[in-house]
Amino acid sequence: MTERTFSIIKPDGVRRNLIGRIVGRFEEEGLKVVAAQMKRLGRYEAEGFYAIHKERPFFGELVESVTSGPVLLMVLEGENAILKNREIMGATNPADAAEGTIRKLYSQSIGENTVHGSDAPETAATEIAWFFAQSLVG
Ligand code: GDP
Repeated sequence: MTERTFSIIKPDGVRRNLIGRIVGRFEEEGLKVVAAQMKRLGRYEAEGFYAIHKERPFFGELVESVTSGPVLLMVLEGENAILKNREIMGATNPADAAEGTIRKLYSQSIGENTVHGSDAPETAATEIAWFFAQSLVG
């Protein structure tokens, strides 16, 4: 099934010049970039995006980290794009990420884990609409 998912290359990835390698990996694995925008997230935008984590002890750190520099926001499209992207990213904590995943290859800590990807169809739809437009939801 062709679907769409939402992806972010977080500030640590942009800072370390990983955009090309990460987007190249998505393309090699059959995911197509159908929308993209580079921007620096504002505090309220980041807090709203991560609202589900509001009560978690790391929320402040999470918002600090994702607003610390520009990010690349993307809508990716492909066969089973949501799960495929999660597989390419690897586990949230890079220490637990499988060999060859983006987080295993490039990430330094759970707080600076280089990429975000939607975890389910509902979140993909909400996240695409939050940053892009309802009309881009797959
Ligand atoms: P994801 O879907 O794999 O990105 O993971 P989650 O939705 O569970 O968490 C969202 C983001 O919060 C993660 O990508 C991490 O950057 C951050 N995060 C999660 N757990 C921790 C933690 O224990 N400490 C810190 N500093 N950040 C965390």
